Amino acid sequence: MTELNELYQEVILEHSKAPRNFRRPATTNHTAEGYNPLCGDRYTVFLDLEGNAIRDIGFQGAGCAISKASASMMTQLVKGKTKAEAEKLFEGFHRMVTGEAGNGDELGKLAVFAGVRKFPARVKCATLAWHTLQSALDGKQEAVSTE
Ligand code: ZN
Repeated sequence: MTELNELYQEVILEHSKAPRNFRRPATTNHTAEGYNPLCGDRYTVFLDLEGNAIRDIGFQGAGCAISKASASMMTQLVKGKTKAEAEKLFEGFHRMVTGEAGNGDELGKLAVFAGVRKFPARVKCATLAWHTLQSALDGKQEAVSTE
């Protein structure tokens, strides 16, 4: 375990203990639920979309440290972004955690999740909130399941 990995673990633990945007925004017009039966992670993502812009975002629910930290950092990153920008981030994030891309240099803080590629079950924890965000952006009604 390198020092870098320890730093990454600290970031993930800090976000899971004090998740950002862990709330239902006052105005919400798109909502989606996500569930990862393998781990038991379950979250609801709330969006306030104005046209294609994510004016506000929040999430609620419960799950492991990785899923919660990922949801927390996701909300911070996509708030104020357009739908297309958020989807591009998800694409890059997904490539990084599935090991198809480098170390996520272009993903900034999300690089802390690069280590989950070694643990396929954890990839589902790390991407759950993003899949749920995608579903909310698409206006889908059914809950997202990673299975
Ligand atoms: Zn999990």
